[in-house]
Amino acid sequence: MPLLKERSMHQQHDVIIIGGGPAGCAAATSLARYRWNTLIVDRSMAGSFLASLGNVSFFPGFPESISGQELLRRMRRQAELSGAHLVSDAITGLARADGRWQLTTESGKPLDTRVVVIATGAGTRTNYLQGERELLGRGVSSDAMADGPAVLKRAAAVIGKTRHAAEEALALTRFAEHVHFIIPSSKLEADEHLAEAVQKHRAIEAYYSASLKKINGDDHVHSITVLTGGHEKEIPVAGVFTYIHEHRPSTGFLEKTVELAHAGAIKVDRGLATSAPGVFACGDALCGKPQLPVIAASQGVLAGISADKYLSTPA
Ligand SMILES: Cc1cc2nc3c(=O)[nH]c(=O)nc-3n(C[C@H](O)[C@H](O)[C@H](O)COP(=O)(O)OP(=O)(O)OC[C@H]3O[C@@H](n4cnc5c(N)ncnc54)[C@H](O)[C@@H]3O)c2cc1C
Repeated sequence: MPLLKERSMHQQHDVIIIGGGPAGCAAATSLARYRWNTLIVDRSMAGSFLASLGNVSFFPGFPESISGQELLRRMRRQAELSGAHLVSDAITGLARADGRWQLTTESGKPLDTRVVVIATGAGTRTNYLQGERELLGRGVSSDAMADGPAVLKRAAAVIGKTRHAAEEALALTRFAEHVHFIIPSSKLEADEHLAEAVQKHRAIEAYYSASLKKINGDDHVHSITVLTGGHEKEIPVAGVFTYIHEHRPSTGFLEKTVELAHAGAIKVDRGLATSAPGVFACGDALCGKPQLPVIAASQGVLAGISADKYLSTPA
């Protein structure tokens, strides 16, 4: 196995995919099926955020849900069975020379390719709440559409102060019978109309200037500990939806190679081509907030189709 890895690091590749999460695996599978020599380079094979999700509750084809780790293992296996190779390394930069791309790596091994697909995701920048990371996908979520059904006719908590948090609190009232909205500020950072809708909703109980101290649970969330009005209070809930982390696409290593939008998100056209020739991008690296794994994977397929067209066009 190491021998194959060594060899694949020194070959000239048709495509190098940076990142082996759902977006990168889907792009690799599409391109390897078209018989392009495809390499996935991932800094840490457990680096995908998907791997930390205890449960992925909305991925087409898995009605009983599946753990993030198992879903990722299957995606990587599918890419390998299609003919793609996977190596553990981090890409530190890319430069154009003679119509090809030269990639530098953390290990020092240079890589050479015609096409690059960037699928590096959006790493989280701020610290987790106590209990949050352990219970991700086990009652802790950041997506009301994916995980709202799990709190049907039960109590849920939302933590955040932004417009997005307010929209998600309202969306959760379609499922939960009571939504405890913990707002770590004296007011919502949302327009008046939205703030009023939250305030007036019968199923939402808003706690202003409050902080969430802890998410409690063993196998699944069962309550939260909140500091409100100077007192700690334990509130039973079946799910906690967090909107307090700042996310930033992992695109720092691209420097001036491709055009970036706000907060480091990669700018792409409708076919997911970036501003640089032969460089495509997909998944959470395209936006400053986490999407659903199925969206990242779909974008990976689209990037793969576009990259195939590019590779198939005579230079
Ligand atoms: C905080 C948070 C909470 C979430 N909660 C949920 C949830 O509850 N339910 C749900 O369904 N989805 C959730 N998601 C969304 C889901 O995890 C993502 O949408 C999905 O994993 C994105 O796929 P991706 O392939 O774009 O990126 P990722 O899965 O993040 O994969 C990116 C990969 O790129 C690699 N990488 C990064 N930089 C480099 C580099 N320079 N060189 C080499 N490799 C590199 C990383 O190691 C990683 O493996 C959450 C995401 C986050 C961030």
